[in-house]
Amino acid sequence: MSKRDYYEVLGVSRDTSDRDIKKAYRRMAMKFHPDRNPGDAEAEDKFKEVNEAYEVLSDAQKKAAYDQYGHAGLEQGAGGFGGGGFDGSFSDIFGDVFGDIFGGGGGGRRRSSVQRGADLRYNLDLSLEEAVRGVEKSIKVPTLVPCDTCDGSGAKPGTSAKACGTCGGHGQVRMQQGFFSVQQTCPTCRGEGKVISDPCGSCRGHGRVEKVKTLSVKIPPGVDTGDRIRLSGEGEAGSHGGPAGDLYVQVNVQQHPIFERDGRNLYCEVPISFVDAALGGELEVPTLDGRVKLRVPAETQTGKLFRLRGKGVSPVRGGPTGDLLVRVVIETPVHLTSRQKELLKEFQQATEEGSDHKHSPKKTSFFDSVKQFFEDMT
Ligand SMILES: [Zn+2]
Ligand SMILES: [Zn+2]
Repeated sequence: MSKRDYYEVLGVSRDTSDRDIKKAYRRMAMKFHPDRNPGDAEAEDKFKEVNEAYEVLSDAQKKAAYDQYGHAGLEQGAGGFGGGGFDGSFSDIFGDVFGDIFGGGGGGRRRSSVQRGADLRYNLDLSLEEAVRGVEKSIKVPTLVPCDTCDGSGAKPGTSAKACGTCGGHGQVRMQQGFFSVQQTCPTCRGEGKVISDPCGSCRGHGRVEKVKTLSVKIPPGVDTGDRIRLSGEGEAGSHGGPAGDLYVQVNVQQHPIFERDGRNLYCEVPISFVDAALGGELEVPTLDGRVKLRVPAETQTGKLFRLRGKGVSPVRGGPTGDLLVRVVIETPVHLTSRQKELLKEFQQATEEGSDHKHSPKKTSFFDSVKQFFEDMT
């Protein structure tokens, strides 16, 4: 395979400054990084190529050899990526090269501290209507973003991090334990391989700063409490140029004053006078799409459920739309005038006289059972 020109690979010209080569490399490496392009073989090749180009162009000696003799100038003893020895371990390669970037060319191979940023969770309260119909919400998320002042390096502009003296920039130290030599994370640099002696004032050397990001989230119709929407790459920035984490928007549907939701079905209670329940009639009931008329048959008992098909929720994961279940509840009349009380007494007498309690079958059978119960006891 014939190799592309390294300057071309990074999209820079031959007289580009080291700093700008670095910048170009960082941009390209981020673009083709496998974490951002999972399963994309072409991006993987590009990523390798970009790393290889930078490995050469960031090293004064190799760069000089390459400038004079081209690819042939690197064939012996170039090592590393120049030899094309790619072992498939992306994060190590990524880390090493990024370590070089932020280490400012302090020399030597160092372990990386490039890490993916943390995932974030955002709890989003929605009204029932918003959850059922879907909505676009603007949310403010406190997060960590790369520091502008130091370009994420943590070092004061114009300065750079120095290789850690304790571990010689390796991030690991060897400890002798009996016969064994054990590798441990360097206590001085905590494995980062470098120390920042002149930290950036804006981020105090962290390379990342807190910022409240405003994001627009599209909520699909039919979501319910517990559903999560993932916004890829909107989590915290990674450390030292690592990829950002994801943001998970956790949905919580608030209580509704009228409707109660159970999955795809909605419930609602509608009060009804005992006269309407006895005689039957038309009842106006609410749905999410507006009011509808419900015919209640004569002799309707309290607690009866009426099903309005298709007036429930269309679930976000598909499937049929649910129903609205209307429970009618008979309301006992209150604040009665003496005239009204008289009428009710009259009504009571009329229903009891010689009727053999046929107007209250439930009551009759209940008291029959009670009578039986006490008779069995004696
Ligand atoms: Zn900074
Ligand atoms: Zn160290």
